[in-house]
Amino acid sequence: MITTHNFGFPRIGKKRELKFALERYWRRETTQNELLNTGLELRQENWQHQQKLDFIPVGDFSFYDQVLDTSFMLGNIPTRVRDLGLKPTNHEDIDNYFRVARGRSGKNESSCACVSAGEMTKWFDTNYHYIVPEFDQNTHFSLNADRLINQINEAKRHNNNIKPVIIGPVTYLWLGKSKDSTDKLTLLDDLLIVYSQLLKRLSNAGIEWLQIDEPILVTELSQEWQHALRKAYFQLSNQSIKILLASYFGELQENLQLACELPVAGIHLDAINASNEVLKVIDWLPSHKILSLGIINGRNIWKTNLATTLDWLEPIYARLVDRLWLAPSCSLLHVPVDLESEEKLDTEIKSWLAFALQKIDELAILAKALDQGRDSVRKELEKNRLALTSREQSKRVHDPRVKQRVDSCNESLEHRQSPYQARADIQDKIFNLPLYPTTTIGSFPQTTQIRQARKDYKNKTITNKNYQAQMRKEIEYCVKEQQQLDLDVFVHGEPERNDMVEYFGEQLEGYAFTQFGWVQSYGSRCVKPPIIFGDISRPQAMTVEWASYAQSLTNKPMKGMLTGPVTILNWSFVRDDQARSDTCLQLALAIRDEVLDLEKAGIKIIQIDEAALREGLPLRKAQWSNYLDWAIRAFRITANGVQNATQIHTHMCYSEFNDIITAIADMDADVITIETSRSDMELLDVFDDFQYPNEIGPGVYDIHSPNIPSVDAMVDLMKKASQRIPAKRLWVNPDCGLKTRSWDEVRPALINMVAASKQLATAN
Ligand code: GLN
Ligand code: ZN
Repeated sequence: MITTHNFGFPRIGKKRELKFALERYWRRETTQNELLNTGLELRQENWQHQQKLDFIPVGDFSFYDQVLDTSFMLGNIPTRVRDLGLKPTNHEDIDNYFRVARGRSGKNESSCACVSAGEMTKWFDTNYHYIVPEFDQNTHFSLNADRLINQINEAKRHNNNIKPVIIGPVTYLWLGKSKDSTDKLTLLDDLLIVYSQLLKRLSNAGIEWLQIDEPILVTELSQEWQHALRKAYFQLSNQSIKILLASYFGELQENLQLACELPVAGIHLDAINASNEVLKVIDWLPSHKILSLGIINGRNIWKTNLATTLDWLEPIYARLVDRLWLAPSCSLLHVPVDLESEEKLDTEIKSWLAFALQKIDELAILAKALDQGRDSVRKELEKNRLALTSREQSKRVHDPRVKQRVDSCNESLEHRQSPYQARADIQDKIFNLPLYPTTTIGSFPQTTQIRQARKDYKNKTITNKNYQAQMRKEIEYCVKEQQQLDLDVFVHGEPERNDMVEYFGEQLEGYAFTQFGWVQSYGSRCVKPPIIFGDISRPQAMTVEWASYAQSLTNKPMKGMLTGPVTILNWSFVRDDQARSDTCLQLALAIRDEVLDLEKAGIKIIQIDEAALREGLPLRKAQWSNYLDWAIRAFRITANGVQNATQIHTHMCYSEFNDIITAIADMDADVITIETSRSDMELLDVFDDFQYPNEIGPGVYDIHSPNIPSVDAMVDLMKKASQRIPAKRLWVNPDCGLKTRSWDEVRPALINMVAASKQLATAN
């Protein structure tokens, strides 16, 4: 018999119940007990949904983040929270937990109980953010497994097929950050003692199988880290519990042999991303170990091709028999809960998709087909086949005009007419900007009024005319403000945009949107990535009217504002029937048309945001250059069709780009604006070694904070910048868009920013 299992189920709830419960609790509108009850209900509902499986996961639920849960389980609580000396209000210690997660446990927290929140960063190459564990030389671990044990007991009340899932000790260390210069690996011995105790407790609780996740196995590991894995599992193998060691998100490559040889009872391989390693693993794996294959994509929302999966699995099953387990490729945390909630989604497109619940069904169908023959699930297979055929053949997916255009793409599309210096000379004469010119990144504060107007328009409770009038009024307001502030290059303020990807997706062919396709991003925050299902084209201009209207109100240059192809791609669920690079190229051509239309309409400066370019970097450095090649090419095709006189800007929202600076220079944007203010211009160190050729605006106003930066602080930052970049090529601007701030914050901050620029220009 084949064994089916799961890694984790989305905990946020079909209708984001957890989000709302958390936020009510933080506002102190509900009691802790009510919050705990919502957690319990969600867990039970999720276990219920997974009844079909031979093992259901326990320990995947979290009130904020599973890595933070692990830190609490291991007694690794930052001293700044421990030093508060606050008595935990109950055994779950949940308020301290929220203090680490978000700096405070809720509204009205007395200031003595607020601390700085733990740092957050992306979980491997997903859009899920975890709270980074903190280590220093005083770090000691001590086991507090009550939360996990309680959940096991809860699950046991209705289920006898339980498999706890925990993060492995080596991945846990790897994910954390050493706050002094302590070598994290020196903490391993102490950590392993606690993991051994945990395993013993789980075993005493009657657990037979435990899943331990070591996703770092798909990354490039130094010998020290490989050795740490060896040491850890040799030590943990003393316990009687059976360990399923899981890797996911990629190929094992040089870690393959290591993974096969570790003394555990079985390993899990991501057979979506590492399908070509499966046979090798089977060869290497000792015959007493089980092999779990992740054959349902836990990162995307397309139906699995059940027939081809079976074609591939049947011989493997024949070889492994009882040693074969089946699962999704990774936790289903990264997909929405239930496709059936979607009432407005086009029925044809809907028939091509599978969310978490549907993925569990697919898993059960595959297992049944393998055990009892395909005939036992004939109807299900037939339904699956029909859906896939409809997708393959749909005219809505395949647009020959788009394919033709992509095929005829040649290098000439990538190049500006002249190199940067020649363009800069021409642009200087046209724009006649002062030294240290000022601009903003695009959005201005999104007031409740404009949000309401967008909502009303979407719900058709106001007319198009009314909506247009409200948006124009807002643009007029933004222009007037910028005039008063005396900024040099204006923006229209983006009042019409709810989201920088959704806005474009909604106007492009090939995109679909869900009502409830939420995926947890961090804590109570969820995102609803749009779905690219077909060839991308742009039926008509998307931004030209707004930009032209804004330009008509002023003599200052008005920046046209677009989202770049790589960012649109990285923040969407993308097609799995063609390479990401192909989809990106289609997006590039569509946005290129918009760039050229803006230029034709008299917009002389065009900004193309690539906020998420860095996020697409593969987990292995060896694959970076391939990604950067096609991503940068897509940007160049988007941007570089314009005349010399048109100035192209791009914007990126992160401060670490030292390792990709040559690729960024290759984009050949005339101006790039980046996030820097928090890093004290440290990131500009890269320019000591690398001569960045074009213009750059290192952000001087941290828009993530309500603080108003002083003139002096901004002058200082820019002076640091001018030590590396000639003043002639520097711009003064905020770190990112201003949409989350209020005018009361933005106005004084920009007054100071303009004053700083003037001070710098006169001093020069
Ligand atoms: N132009 C966008 C804005 O100003 C850029 C947002 C971003 O980089 N995340 O809001
Ligand atoms: Zn940004």
